[in-house]
Amino acid sequence: MKWDRIAKIKRRNNVGKLKQNPGEIISPIVRSIIENHAEAACLFDYKGDMQHLNAKFLKMLGFAQSEKEFVDAVLAQLFRYFEFDRAMSGHPQFYEDVIIDKDGQCVPITITHIPVVVSREVLGSLCTIEPRKDRSQPKLGQIVSEIRFQDILNRLDVAVWSVDLIEKKVLFVSDAIQEIYGIPAAEVHFDTWRQLIHRDDLRQVEENQSQLLEKGKIIHTYRIITSYGTLKWVKDHSIALKNADGQIALIVGSLEDITQSKQLQNKLQNMAFIDHLTQLPNSNYARKLLQEWIDTHEHNGKTFAMLRLNMDGFNRVNDVFGPSVGDEVIKRMAKRITASVADGGIFFRMAGDEFLILAHHQKETDGYEAIAANVLNAIHASLPLNSYDFHLTASVGISVYPFDGKNGTLLVKNGRAALKRAKQLGKSTYQVYSQSMDIESFKFFQLENDLRKAIKTHELYFDFQPKVDAKSQKAIAAEALIRWNHPTWGVVSPTEFIEIAEEGALIHKISDIVIETVCRQVKMWMKKGVPFERISFNLSGKDFLRRDLSGRVKRYLDRYEVPAERLEIEITEGVMLQQDEIVREQMQDLKNLGVAITIDDYGVGYSSVSHFRNYPIDVMKIDRSFIQAIVENEEDRFIVQSLIELGKGLKKTVIAEGVENREQYDLLKNMGCTIIQGFLFSPPVSAEDMEALFLADRLQPKQTTFKPKVERRKYFRYQLPMPLCVNMTIIALNKKSVSLGSTEVLVENISLGGLRFMSQLRLTTQADILYSFKVQMMDTLIKLAGKIVWSYEKQKDIFQYGVEFIIQEQERDALSSLLNKLRGRLKSNSVLKDGPFVTENPILYLQKQ
Ligand code: C2E
Ligand code: MG
Ligand code: MG
Repeated sequence: MKWDRIAKIKRRNNVGKLKQNPGEIISPIVRSIIENHAEAACLFDYKGDMQHLNAKFLKMLGFAQSEKEFVDAVLAQLFRYFEFDRAMSGHPQFYEDVIIDKDGQCVPITITHIPVVVSREVLGSLCTIEPRKDRSQPKLGQIVSEIRFQDILNRLDVAVWSVDLIEKKVLFVSDAIQEIYGIPAAEVHFDTWRQLIHRDDLRQVEENQSQLLEKGKIIHTYRIITSYGTLKWVKDHSIALKNADGQIALIVGSLEDITQSKQLQNKLQNMAFIDHLTQLPNSNYARKLLQEWIDTHEHNGKTFAMLRLNMDGFNRVNDVFGPSVGDEVIKRMAKRITASVADGGIFFRMAGDEFLILAHHQKETDGYEAIAANVLNAIHASLPLNSYDFHLTASVGISVYPFDGKNGTLLVKNGRAALKRAKQLGKSTYQVYSQSMDIESFKFFQLENDLRKAIKTHELYFDFQPKVDAKSQKAIAAEALIRWNHPTWGVVSPTEFIEIAEEGALIHKISDIVIETVCRQVKMWMKKGVPFERISFNLSGKDFLRRDLSGRVKRYLDRYEVPAERLEIEITEGVMLQQDEIVREQMQDLKNLGVAITIDDYGVGYSSVSHFRNYPIDVMKIDRSFIQAIVENEEDRFIVQSLIELGKGLKKTVIAEGVENREQYDLLKNMGCTIIQGFLFSPPVSAEDMEALFLADRLQPKQTTFKPKVERRKYFRYQLPMPLCVNMTIIALNKKSVSLGSTEVLVENISLGGLRFMSQLRLTTQADILYSFKVQMMDTLIKLAGKIVWSYEKQKDIFQYGVEFIIQEQERDALSSLLNKLRGRLKSNSVLKDGPFVTENPILYLQKQ
C-alpha cells in the first residue's frame, strides 16, 4: 500500500534531501530493536512504506502477516494524524486513535512515531503502538451497522420502535411514527402509545399486552386517535425481550397504519351483508344476527320473534310487467315495510319477494302479531307505478324464540311452516307457529334425551338380514342392523338415532357395542357349526376419523377368538368421499387385519372410479334406490347394469340391497349380480331366526305384496280426488295425555272407521300412541282420534299409515254427515275449492317440507 498522504506532503515540501535508499535503515541492530521492543512496533521508510514489523504488532491486531489487506489498512491508519514537517525536524509524535482488530473490536491505542535520523538525515519512522486502558467503547462494527440500520428503518413506512420497560423510556422510534401518530419521532415519549389508543379498544389492547410475557410476541390491531384527531387502524407487532432475571426489560416492535385495508375490508363486508336492490340487510346478515340474538337471549330470558314474509302471487307482477318493474315494486315495498316496522325490529330482504323481520322482545305474542298486522296493512295500500295501481298482499309466518325453536334451524323451519299455513289460509294474513313442539321435534327431543340411557339399559339390540347367493339361493352371509326399543316410541330405526349419536361421542360407544355383539354372535355360531361366510356390520364415518379403529376391532376379535376373515365392515360411499387420508389409512389397517370392507349405498355418492381403485374395498353394495325402480325404469336398469359391470371389472363382489320382488331378482341375476339382499328373501330378523336361515338349504323368495289391514275396512271408503292437508297431533303417549303442536299430513282416503295418510314422519304401530286429526272441510271442523295400525315405506323417507279411529258415536255421526256432503260435492266436482287440497305431486310436496 502506498501512503498517499505522506506522498502528497513530500511533494509539497520537496523532500529531495531524503536518503534515496531506504533499505539501508534495516540493519540487524535495527531489526533486533524492533523485534524485541516491549510494544507493538514497526518501521517505515521515508516514503511511508513499511519495512519491518514485530510479532506483537500482529498479535495485537489478531491478523497474520499474510492477511495483507487488513494489515495494510491498519498501517495506513497509523499515519492519520502524522505531521511530516515535525518528523522532518526530528520530533517524535504521539497521538491517540482507535483501530479495529480482527474481531471487529475497537482497540483504543496510543501511537508514537520516533524519527529515524542517521547523519542528520531522516530515513524513516519507528512507530510503536500501545493499547489504552479504557476499552469500554462499543464495537465499531456494531456502530456502523446500527447507523445504517437506523437509516433504513427511518425510510420505512412502518414505524419501528423499542422501549425500555424498566426505565420507562423510549429507546428508539423511527421517523414513520410522525406519519402515523402525527407526532415527530423525537417527541414520542413512553406514554404516547397508550394515550392515543381508542377508548373502546384500550381494555382489549391492555389485555393482549398482558399476554406478552407468556407468549413472547403478540400481533394485534386496534384503533388510535392521532394528534390531529383522526381515527386510524393500526397493526401492532410487539416482541418482548427478557433480562437475566426473566423480567421483560425491552419491547421492540413495529406499528403499521392499516386504515385503508380495514376500510376496504369493511366495505367488502358491507357488500356481503347488504342487498343491492333494496339496500336492506340481506340473508347473510339475517343469519349472523339471528345467531347473535339467540346467544344473548339465551341468558337474558327474553323472547324475540322471526317474522317471515312472502308477497302473494308476486310472480305475476314479474310475468306481466317484466322484471324491472318487479324490481321497482320490491324496492318501494321495502321502503314501506321498513317504515312500518319502525323500531319493532330489523328488516331484511332474504331473496326475491321474501323478507324477514327479527322483532324485538314483546311481552306477549300479541305484540309480534301487531307488528305483522302493521306490515300487512302497509303492503296492502295501493302502489302507483308507471300509471298502474298495484294492489299487493303478503303472508307472514311467525315463530317465537324460544318456544318455537331454541336454535336457528328449528326457528327457521317453524317460521316457514307458519308462513305456509298463512298462505293456505287464504293469503294476506299472518300465522303464529303453534307454541308447542310438533311431533317430529318432540320425538327428536325425547330420543336425544334417552339415547345415553338406552345404552346402559340395553334397549339397543340387533336384527340380521341374510345375504343370499343369487344362484343357489342360499344364505351365505348376513348384515347386523341395530335397533332401539324405545319405551314410548317403540322400535326406532337407526336412521333416526344414529344421526343423533353422531353429533356427540355416543357413536363410538354404540359402535363398540356393534363390534362386540357381532364378534360374540360370530363366535357362538362358529361354535355351533352354523354354516356362513361372514357377518357384516355398519360403522359411521365418524368411527373412521378416530385412529384407533383397527385396534378396537382387533381387541374384540382377540377377546372372542374370532378370525378377522369372518367380519365385514360396511361404510357408506360418503365416508370415502371425504377423501381423508385418515379414512384411507383406517381402511387399510382393517384390511391388513383381514376384515373385508364394503361400500354401502353404492351409486348415490357419485364417487369416481379412482376412489374404488385407491381404497381397499372388497364389496360394492348397490343402493336400494336404484333397485327399487329397476323393473319399470330403463334408466335405473342401465345404471345398475353399469354399476355391476364396474364392480366386476374392478374384481369386487357386487351385492344388490333392497330387493323386494321376483322381477327385480331375476333381472339382477341376469345382469350378473352375485349376491342379493332384501325383503324378497327375508327382512332383518332376530339372531335366532337368522340361524335357521343359515341352516336352510335354500331360501324361498317371498313376494312382498303389500296388503294393509285397514284397506279391508268395514265402512265405505272415500277416495279423495287429491290429498287433503290435515293437522295431526299426538294427544296421549302410553295412556298419558300430552299437549303437542301439530304436523301436517296428507290424507288420501277416509271412512267412518279410519283413514290413510302419507307423511315423512317415521311412526310405528308397536307404540301406545293416540293421534288426533283435525279435518277441516266445507266449513266443518271435526277432530278424530285414532291409532296407527299399519305402516309402509312407500319410498325412501315417505311413509303411508293406516289409522283406526277410536271415536264416540257422536263424532262418527258428524263425520258421516261430512262424508255424505263430500260425496255429493265430489259428484259435482266443486269440493276442491272448499278444502286445503294438495294439487301437486304429494311426494314432492312432502319432500319440500
Ligand atoms: P343400510 O346399511 O343400507 O341397511 C339397509 C337398510 O335397508 C336397513 O334399514 C334394512 O332394514 C333396509 N332394507 C333391507 N332390505 C330392504 C328391502 O327389501 N326393502 C326396504 N324398503 N328396505 C330394506 P335399517 O335397519 O332401518 O337401517 C338403516 C340404516 O341405518 C342402515 O342402512 C345403516 O346405514 C344404518 N345402520 C343400521 N345399523 C347400524 C349400526 O349398527 N351402526 C351404524 N353406524 N349404522 C347402522
Ligand atoms: Mg349396510
Ligand atoms: Mg345400504
